[in-house]
Amino acid sequence: MTAGRPSPAAKQIGFSFMADGERFSVSATGVVVVPSGDDLSGQEQPVNFENALTEVLPPEALLTEIEDKRPYECDGLSAYQQVPRVVVMPETRKQVEDVVKICAEYDVPIVARGAGTGLSGGALPLADGCLMSLAKFNRIVEIDAENLVAVVEPGVRNIAVSEALAAHGLYYAPDPSSQIACSIGGNVAENSGGVHCLKYGLTVHNVLQVEILTADGEWLTLGGAALDSPGYDLLALLNGSEGMLGIIMQITVKLLPLPPVARVLLGAFDTVAAAADTVAGVIAAGIIPAGLEMMDRLATRAAEDYCQAGYPRDATAILLCELDGTPDEVDTQLGTVRDIFELHGCVETRVSATEEERLRFWMGRKAAFPAMGRIAPDYYCMDGTIPRRNLGVVLQRIAELSEQYGLPVANVFHAGDGNLHPLIAYDANDDGQLEAAERLGGEILELCVEVGGTVTGEHGVGVEKLDQMCVQFSASELAMFHAIKDAFDPAGLLNPGKAIPTLHRCVEFGAMHVHGGKLPHPELERF
Ligand SMILES: Cc1cc2nc3c(=O)[nH]c(=O)nc-3n(C[C@H](O)[C@H](O)[C@H](O)COP(=O)(O)OP(=O)(O)OC[C@H]3O[C@@H](n4cnc5c(N)ncnc54)[C@H](O)[C@@H]3O)c2cc1C
Repeated sequence: MTAGRPSPAAKQIGFSFMADGERFSVSATGVVVVPSGDDLSGQEQPVNFENALTEVLPPEALLTEIEDKRPYECDGLSAYQQVPRVVVMPETRKQVEDVVKICAEYDVPIVARGAGTGLSGGALPLADGCLMSLAKFNRIVEIDAENLVAVVEPGVRNIAVSEALAAHGLYYAPDPSSQIACSIGGNVAENSGGVHCLKYGLTVHNVLQVEILTADGEWLTLGGAALDSPGYDLLALLNGSEGMLGIIMQITVKLLPLPPVARVLLGAFDTVAAAADTVAGVIAAGIIPAGLEMMDRLATRAAEDYCQAGYPRDATAILLCELDGTPDEVDTQLGTVRDIFELHGCVETRVSATEEERLRFWMGRKAAFPAMGRIAPDYYCMDGTIPRRNLGVVLQRIAELSEQYGLPVANVFHAGDGNLHPLIAYDANDDGQLEAAERLGGEILELCVEVGGTVTGEHGVGVEKLDQMCVQFSASELAMFHAIKDAFDPAGLLNPGKAIPTLHRCVEFGAMHVHGGKLPHPELERF
């Protein structure tokens, strides 16, 4: 993610399907840099498509003017921008279905968009594509408190679910830090995580059923009330599908009773390594906290200056550990965790005394990204996951890379999950800094793979991590991903070019083995 003022150096992505007579031409060849402000939309397309849309949408639900489309040109990864050919904002299921069928007829790709808070460019529009905002589908359809489920439309904001449930003594556990804005549809499409996912699972573990509309306009219901179901687990496949397999139109989520008590233990450490070792120590003791987060000094100070969360400004790193349950359980666990903290060299502990203080401790953590926006003109948020035991060594290596590139890196992350979020500070107005930040980010992701981790934690692949997917997966695995995409969307109209690199791209990136001039799987089409 970049923050701060708009970046003149921002990249725009062509993604023109028909360039060189090939679909996916841009996903195969990488990013095209064009002067800021150019409108690439509307190229090489007959206007019949727009006319067809006016037949099925009210005027206010179809945006074709550049100034109306501009707000949709990027998601949270604002270094990449592209004005789409059209923006549609349907409000009925029939309208969505009609738009999908018209796109299929005119061979126009569709990018679904929730709240646009994604950090990997998943909702980045395509120049010749239709950006479909699902924001108007914002109804909580049903709360079934007895059976602990709720049915929601995709545009419902994450936090709105728990707010609506509070009166029933219930909540929805996955809580991305962007929860005041991000949509449940986007959460499913990204398989989002959050502070509470360490104990209660990611989005995929909290969704029972989704209803999707396929690229050829067919309605499918995946999953159900039972814990197991015959056949392949298509519901799990939809979680993290980044808008490429179907448009998610309704979601049934699991609910949890609010815990009787929740308290946060804040620990301050003199070294990052000591804080990192403490994380492994807590889990090794058999305790699964409701949340276990880490922030280094740069992030702590930025958050403290931004919202006065009550953090110690002198600590090199802090841990925030939430424990929930009955009062007795919480007291016992607090004592054990405090002992573990002190055993690992914790120099100061604070325990939230009131619910207001607990929320304040979390407010700092959740505001850490925007807080960074106040101290750096731009920042780039990475997302990778590593085995917890490697936290110390990886954080040390990140510090060295930061030094080497001359770019400050703040770390604020889901430590209990081993899910890193290095925030690389840079200035887009300074020639070459964006590229340097991207190279540094790439090195960090490859480091994650090297120590047995992954290139995504919770932010998805989008356009941001396509190259690193080549490092993570073999040609055979990537071919399977393409086959799955093809099974759901044979015409390749749903968010093409995102999340799964073409084999050609991997060769160009240098991450695919070429023997004697021959690629693996020569039978596969190279886009
Ligand atoms: C400050 C900040 C903090 C964040 N913290 C976290 C965090 O703690 N954990 C975390 O996981 N993420 C976090 N994120 C990233 C982001 O909020 C999540 O990825 C979120 O799930 C995106 O939801 P959205 O509604 O904004 O989706 P969008 O950004 O609009 O879209 C994301 C992807 O989902 C697809 N999509 C959206 N809606 C649909 C639909 N109905 N059907 C099919 N595909 C769809 C899009 O095509 C795109 O590929 C953070 C972002 C910010 C800006």
